[in-house]
Amino acid sequence: MNTANKTLSFEFFPTRTPEGRDKQTAVREKLRRFNPAFFSCTSGAGGSTREGTLQTIADILAENTPAAPHLPCIGMNEAEIHTLLDTYRDMGVRRIVALRGDMPSGMGASGSGLRYAAELVELIRRRYGDLFRIEIAAYPEYHPQACSAAEDTAHFAAKARAGADSAITQYFYNADAYFRFVDDVRALGCTIPVVPGIMPVTGFAKLVRFSDTCGAEIPRWLRLKLQSYADDTESVQAFALDVVTDMCARLLEQGAPGLHFYTMNQSALPEEICRRLGFGA
Ligand code: FAD
Repeated sequence: MNTANKTLSFEFFPTRTPEGRDKQTAVREKLRRFNPAFFSCTSGAGGSTREGTLQTIADILAENTPAAPHLPCIGMNEAEIHTLLDTYRDMGVRRIVALRGDMPSGMGASGSGLRYAAELVELIRRRYGDLFRIEIAAYPEYHPQACSAAEDTAHFAAKARAGADSAITQYFYNADAYFRFVDDVRALGCTIPVVPGIMPVTGFAKLVRFSDTCGAEIPRWLRLKLQSYADDTESVQAFALDVVTDMCARLLEQGAPGLHFYTMNQSALPEEICRRLGFGA
């Protein structure tokens, strides 16, 4: 397919060991051939992985690739947010994934007083002007705490209006949910690109666990089919690879501006999907 003008980005999480860091460097090296717009790195709410995120971002920048740290604001006060953003600015970061985050269980949500990501977007624009490109999160199947579809969509549109440049979605396996969501936010006057977040399937049990917590739906037919392979991980991956690649092709053909991969710090599946789609050819 024609991938001209379609962007790619890849998401990592911070590693805990020197071996993990080396492995991640090798993974990024493989994915760099697809000329990504940026690599991003997650960060635990409440600052739980801050050092690891800073290290990963420094590593990415040292490789001359644009880096986007995720910044969940819940549990931080404004001074802490300023300090962290100043650090990122001084490192050469020019893109931030601005999030509310979820407090780890057992930790209270006190701190900054920021309650929603929209307030973080406003704070960044107020203090730094247009220095940072701001990415926000989107939920085509709606956020797990959404009161209603309409309210969740309206909150997203307000967050975009607060000054976001672009959005990355939670992963999904139902392209129609994405197209419907984009139509709905466009109807509210929101024009920013909404990039689908893509989760390749490495294993069934892990996917179910993840999806249950973040509110992503695994369609019944897909769940049953993957389940039928039981412990045959190779077949799970091969089948899901076809399904996810087909979905990506449809998303791109019908207007998605690009793809953002949740890599889980592994390159094989995102690489194969990008290769099949014709990226990096
Ligand atoms: P918000 O946009 O603030 O929305 C959260 C909820 O509040 C929604 O239900 C929304 O409808 C509601 N809401 C918003 N505004 C209002 C309002 N004014 N009044 C009432 N309700 C309102 N989490 C991490 O901890 N670290 C990460 O690195 C991380 N990376 C992520 C990357 C992506 C691409 C995505 C999609 C999610 C990521 N998350 C991460 C998860 C995210 O932090 C959680 O889903 C969190 O619960 C919501 O964050 P948000 O930024 O979408 O919040």
